[in-house]
Amino acid sequence: KKPGRFYNEPLLDFAVKADREKMLKALSDFKASMPVNVPLHINGKEISTSNIFERVNPSHADQVVGKINMGSVDHAEQAMQAAQTAFKTWKTVPAAKRADMVDKLADIMTRDKFKLIATQVLEVGKPWAEADGDIGEAIDFCRYYARHMRELASPLRQGALPGELSQYIYKSRGVTAVIAPWNFPLAILAGMVTAAAVTGNTVVMKPAEQSSVVAWGLMKMIVEAGFPAGVINFLPGYGEEVGEYIVNHKFTTTIAFTGSKAVGLHILNKASLVQPGQTHVKRCIIEMGGKNAVIIDNDADLDEAVDGVLYSSFGFSGQKCSAASRVIVLDEVYDRFTDRLVEAAKSIEIGSAENPKAYMGPVVDKEAYERILGTIAEGEKNHKLLFKANVPSNGYYAPATIFGNVPGDAKLAQQEIFGPVVAVIRAKNLDHALEIANSTEYALTGGLFSRSPANIARVKEEFEVGNLYVNRGITGAMVDRHPFGGFKMSGVGSKTGGIDYLKQYMEPICVTENT
Ligand code: GLU
Repeated sequence: KKPGRFYNEPLLDFAVKADREKMLKALSDFKASMPVNVPLHINGKEISTSNIFERVNPSHADQVVGKINMGSVDHAEQAMQAAQTAFKTWKTVPAAKRADMVDKLADIMTRDKFKLIATQVLEVGKPWAEADGDIGEAIDFCRYYARHMRELASPLRQGALPGELSQYIYKSRGVTAVIAPWNFPLAILAGMVTAAAVTGNTVVMKPAEQSSVVAWGLMKMIVEAGFPAGVINFLPGYGEEVGEYIVNHKFTTTIAFTGSKAVGLHILNKASLVQPGQTHVKRCIIEMGGKNAVIIDNDADLDEAVDGVLYSSFGFSGQKCSAASRVIVLDEVYDRFTDRLVEAAKSIEIGSAENPKAYMGPVVDKEAYERILGTIAEGEKNHKLLFKANVPSNGYYAPATIFGNVPGDAKLAQQEIFGPVVAVIRAKNLDHALEIANSTEYALTGGLFSRSPANIARVKEEFEVGNLYVNRGITGAMVDRHPFGGFKMSGVGSKTGGIDYLKQYMEPICVTENT
């Protein structure tokens, strides 16, 4: 049976009354269920602990969204043992059958879409449309990886020598430790978990503390989709405790991580230390940060450029590793562009993520809020403030902020902020713009607004980024259409939602037979 073309899950349109009403109902139903009790789920069994972390709604800090049972090192050991035992049988399950389970998971996500959106709105303060995008991406990852695994499962003949059958075959590796971020709480977690499981590996998943309720929703759907006990284990807990333990564990063969540079580099370091009894060199698939720039050329369409920069910088309050935090504007259009960007920024509505009109909700928690406010205060001392939005006071609302004439080598233009803060940088010409653009340690996303074919060609050639976008925003990579990921200090490993991604979770074997 030949599958049809891959397609991306369509987004909802909340201007449609029926969808808007379904969303409001899903939000009120979810709120009635709060606080959600989140247990561990190891080897098919729910486990409670005495160590409870209360997760609050960042839009309304007085509401408790979930009571998370935080796992200990003992629980992490149980999860590793369960995954190691389950691997013995899971690796023998035909790839097509594993892929069918991942497709079933996508069907369940599609069925429960409104509930899944509501969970993110309330747990991480993601605005409706952004949360819908996250669920769509999770569904896409499942469908894309399931169909790709079906293709990769057929051995590939090598050479054509008569009398010799030589075949290239992908095999699973073993236990995969998945450590996920909170910013794409379903998509990134589900992407890493399904990639590991569909390729025949077993999984211990450690969600981010801030999005454990969303992750628990995923675990329940995994059970419903029919994955056997022990194949995917759910280990909420603190990174320093259980995250550290599963990274160091001798059973771990692969580590899939998305998050900060500091933690990513720490994991790489720890993974290189061989534990007694360890049988595999640990492979790390590590996605880290960005300090992404958009270049505005002299002849750019400024309407498009303002729109693209605004959304790339302030969508989900800049809490995407793909977000634009530097805008490098050529001298000739600098004043016109910045004036228009500031005017446009004034129209941004900041408020509770539950309000469908909110362009920007809160940032994820108190710690992020204080860190971002500190960065803004420091920026105000050293740079020219062009704009700072007014924000509500009853949650963790960080203001959309724009600084002008920031030198390319200033801290504000070099360090990842992970918040709604943009440094606008003036460049003498395109050479200078490219020099500034490539001057950070990161290489994740980047953009160019230009109408000059020669300049577009040059930037395509010289701008060192994993995902380059021309004449559009630089966030919102779609599975299949825009395989996503960076290099330099932005990470190691190949792109999610692309043709090389699954291969990293497997071992290629060559079997040669004289026939
Ligand atoms: N893939 C997302 C995008 O293109 C960003 C993922 C991330 O923040 O880790 O916007």
